Amino acid sequence: MNRNCRFSGGCNCGAIGFVLRNPPLFVHACHCCDCQKASGSAFRITTIVLENDITFVQGNVASRKKSEQRTEFVCKSCEGLIYLTATNHPATALLNSKTLDELRVLEIGAHIWTLDKHAWLELPADVPQFEKGYDRNKVWPQRSLERVLRAVNDNGPT
Ligand SMILES: [Zn+2]
Ligand SMILES: [Zn+2]
Repeated sequence: MNRNCRFSGGCNCGAIGFVLRNPPLFVHACHCCDCQKASGSAFRITTIVLENDITFVQGNVASRKKSEQRTEFVCKSCEGLIYLTATNHPATALLNSKTLDELRVLEIGAHIWTLDKHAWLELPADVPQFEKGYDRNKVWPQRSLERVLRAVNDNGPT
């Protein structure tokens, strides 16, 4: 990640502002049909961070349960999604990439669901590609896996 870039963001209405205390754990681009639909584009960029690294500088998020496993954190005013968490991945959060002030600071670490990828789109050969999903334990940098382990231990059993 580029150290000179600040990882900051907020919601559309401006009520929420946040900074990331550390760079994301991992960023991937998902080319599946659902992500194409959700983004209105060729793929969706997913930014995975430590939940504790999201520091709100203004505003408060409201949480709402999406399912047994998933909880969404949204702006109380505009209801814009800031991030979501899943019980099967403790301590981490999927940050809504759209909330970041600058998306170009994101370095894509993997392209996934290339089975559904648009045919015209050529991916860089030096970035790992997966036809479907991937195993984070095999793909993420060791440093990121360790950060997650440390955060899980700090938070204690949930
Ligand atoms: Zn997807
Ligand atoms: Zn808002």
